[in-house]
Order: sequence, then C-alpha cells, then structure tokens
Amino acid sequence: MPIDKMIEKAQKLLNDRRVEQISHSTWNVIGDHGTYTVAMDYKGKVACNCPGFQSKGRCSHSAAVVILTKIHR
Ligand SMILES: [Zn+2]
Repeated sequence: MPIDKMIEKAQKLLNDRRVEQISHSTWNVIGDHGTYTVAMDYKGKVACNCPGFQSKGRCSHSAAVVILTKIHR
C-alpha cells in the first residue's frame, strides 16, 4: 500500500473513532479484518500485531496511533 493511501486509511480509522487507548502505551484498533493491538515503546516506536505489520513493518493501524499521539501530545 502506498504511504499516502495508508495515511488516508489511518485518518479514516480516527474519524470513525475506531482507535481506542487501552493503556498509556497500547491501543486497540478496529480494522477492516479484525481488531488489532498497537503498542508504543519508550522511544515512540509503534508495533502492531496485524499480518500487514508483521510482513511490511508498517500498517494503517500503527499510523493511526502515530497521528493520534502527535495531535494530542
Ligand atoms: Zn496493523
């Protein structure tokens, strides 16, 4: 998936309120194919447990969390 498409999808997840913070460093994201957990480490690096992140190291779920934390910090 191209980066801009991924950001667009991440923004849509946020607009639809499908990103829910469950602890200070973890979020549940309701994706199109299931609910995934995004965790952020102390450096601000995010990791998601969806298949896309496992294979490519990035996904719209983790991108949504990055956008969210940038807005609210
Ligand atoms: Zn993901």
